[in-house]
Amino acid sequence: EDEVNIISGALSLTKKTVKDIMTCIDDVFMLDYNDVLNFDTMSEIMKRGYSRIPVYENDKSNIVALLNIKDLALIDPDDNTSLKTVCRFYQHHLIFVFDDHKLDQMLQDFRQGHSHMAIIRRVNNEGDGDPYYETLGVVTLEDVIEEIIQSEIIDE
Ligand code: ADP
Repeated sequence: EDEVNIISGALSLTKKTVKDIMTCIDDVFMLDYNDVLNFDTMSEIMKRGYSRIPVYENDKSNIVALLNIKDLALIDPDDNTSLKTVCRFYQHHLIFVFDDHKLDQMLQDFRQGHSHMAIIRRVNNEGDGDPYYETLGVVTLEDVIEEIIQSEIIDE
């Protein structure tokens, strides 16, 4: 039973896209590049409990960095360190993929090890203005693994 599920899950990776499994942008917990890592911000981050947090500048569609929760280990909230400083120090690799990126390719990308979260974009050419990149959501390695085993992984 489990094996059949895993095999069909693995086979579906070549057909399904990141858009099918992503966490939508409105549900993604992000930080502003200009935020200060004071007590309030750090409490909020800990309360949310995510390991990776996209960082945007000006507009939530404009993701410019990624914060790993580990980056905060040496930060003292009393120092009012700017998030910008931390992001510039670590400069974690950001993976951007288009919404039609297939899951087997996404798994290959994650296996490269640069990051286990990808930012999903599409080119928006609706309307009169110039086409622009629109951020739709995020996908993590866990989302892809859930697709393979065809069931939820309950978080710690
Ligand atoms: P974590 O280690 O933070 O629990 P996982 O990679 O295990 O994250 O992913 C668990 C689920 O949470 C996935 O569906 C993923 O898309 C989602 N997720 C990860 N980071 C965030 C975030 N910053 N905001 C909202 N959802 C997120």
